[in-house]
Amino acid sequence: MKLLVVGSMALDTIETPFGKENNILGGSASYFSLAASLFTDVCVVAVVGRDFPEEHIELLKSKGIELEGVTREEGETFRWEGKYGYDLGDPETLATDLNVFENFKPVIPDSYRNSEYVFLANIDPELQLSVLNQVENPKLVACDTMNFWIENKPEELKEVLKHVDLMMLNDSETRALAGVPSITQAAREVLAMGPKALIVKRGEYGALMFSEEGIFWAPSYPLEEVVDPTGAGDTFAGGFMGYAAGHDILDHTGFKTAVVYGSVIASFTVENFSVRRISELEASELDKRFTAFLQLSKLD
Ligand code: AMP
Repeated sequence: MKLLVVGSMALDTIETPFGKENNILGGSASYFSLAASLFTDVCVVAVVGRDFPEEHIELLKSKGIELEGVTREEGETFRWEGKYGYDLGDPETLATDLNVFENFKPVIPDSYRNSEYVFLANIDPELQLSVLNQVENPKLVACDTMNFWIENKPEELKEVLKHVDLMMLNDSETRALAGVPSITQAAREVLAMGPKALIVKRGEYGALMFSEEGIFWAPSYPLEEVVDPTGAGDTFAGGFMGYAAGHDILDHTGFKTAVVYGSVIASFTVENFSVRRISELEASELDKRFTAFLQLSKLD
């Protein structure tokens, strides 16, 4: 099945306790599409500036990722600068230069409009709605957001929620959206806003999926070394949606396996800066870690 992602393509400057890298490939659509391309055909809608290195485009194309919907505008590419402390938790944002991303108006190419699976990455909820108006009857729509939109465009975001099947948020976004401190209670409130399922990404504490069918939890893989957590959330989403689209999965049981694949791919992402680790990932490594993952909470 074809999977569409609409999001950011960025040049990130990242500092972690293990190093600093300038202007490396980032952005939700880059991370998401590379992760999802391990399982299915992915097409991207995003915007870059004149300065966006051709080698990044070539990398995405070499993975079979469809880039007809990526436009190159006059001006500079979106840049984000973040710094992580020793706990490698939420980063401090040092700079956000929207540049060409400020005027991003997603236009879905005709050849993408029949995508069966759609991921609305973290962009203005009004733009997320405009994407939904351009696609033809997708089977599964999933959506991400951030605290900025929860605070500044709550009504537009609630309208989006009415039209999505699956919401993916972190702990603080879930609490902020629902306005209650308990994650389980907050999850119930979010589901009442429209989505059939909610996945709460909890960093090193794993991911929780809530739906009418119950609650499922997958741990994070206990890595010896984490170098850069950037992109963990987007590659989790890419692994989840890629697996679901690749196997045409729409049910809770199938979603459980997709949650584990999302967690497996996110665990590779954080082993190096940018997309380095996932862009060189071998299928055999993926299978091996998937099996190790299942052993983590097996009782016999
Ligand atoms: P995450 O998976 O949450 O770590 O997302 C990481 C990516 O989000 C980085 O590569 C950034 O380029 C991108 N990003 C940071 N801030 C924004 C923003 N305001 N809008 C869209 N993308 C962003």
